[in-house]
Amino acid sequence: MLWADIEKVRSAPASGLRGMCPVCARTVIAKCGTQRVHHWAHIGERACDRWWERETQWHRTWKLRFPGTWHECIMHDDATGEKHIADVRTPDGVVIEFQHSHLRAGERGAREHFYRNMVWVVDGTRLQRDLPRFIRGARDLRPIGKDVFRHAFPDELLPKTWLGCAAPAFFDFGAPEDPEAARFIQNCLWCLLPQNGHQAIVVKIDRDAFIGIAQQNAQSLLFLPLRAQAEQRLAAERARDRREHLRAIAAILERQRQWRPRHHWQPRRRTF
Ligand SMILES: [Zn+2]
Repeated sequence: MLWADIEKVRSAPASGLRGMCPVCARTVIAKCGTQRVHHWAHIGERACDRWWERETQWHRTWKLRFPGTWHECIMHDDATGEKHIADVRTPDGVVIEFQHSHLRAGERGAREHFYRNMVWVVDGTRLQRDLPRFIRGARDLRPIGKDVFRHAFPDELLPKTWLGCAAPAFFDFGAPEDPEAARFIQNCLWCLLPQNGHQAIVVKIDRDAFIGIAQQNAQSLLFLPLRAQAEQRLAAERARDRREHLRAIAAILERQRQWRPRHHWQPRRRTF
């Protein structure tokens, strides 16, 4: 974590300091090496929030793109007494969670339910196959607006574990070394919107634009108007498909009604 309490004051780590974890009140020690972002760690690397993942450099670099007062916001559910640390919470109440490690769908859903107004930033470089699959799958992205696309087979585009997420998930594919991949990614994040039905809506957004929007009007990262539009469009398409299906059935029934055998078999009278 980037913040701990020293005599009740939220403090950044500095060499030799000890502080108190704001969640579990156990002692944390400052880690101030030269390789990694300076941070606090529980003694023995134990974490107190079961949702807290061991932070990577990617994780801390992302957090540091936002003001320190937004970091590691402790959120409570008064009904259940549960409390968790949100990576970043903007002043207008949007939680940004940075996810590097694998997350089971059930656990992802629990976090989405707890934080409600939230977006994910997902490390798209965790598995070697993720970026090549995305670039291959992107050939089938169909534009439906400026930097908005839809994809009929989202499992050919993004990791399966993220399909069906209830919060927008921004995939960060980093800065690929391969020139073709780098040209394609262009310092952008690709956001999977919560799905209604099988197909996916994907939005391309410049990384700096994402950070700027998060600082000025983070609510718009939830893409609520776009999601409502997509839902309407999908409902209209479903209604049209249903009408066409019914029309096809009616046509088959009509053809069956009109069909009469051309020759009727009649027993021949025997003549001797
Ligand atoms: Zn703790």
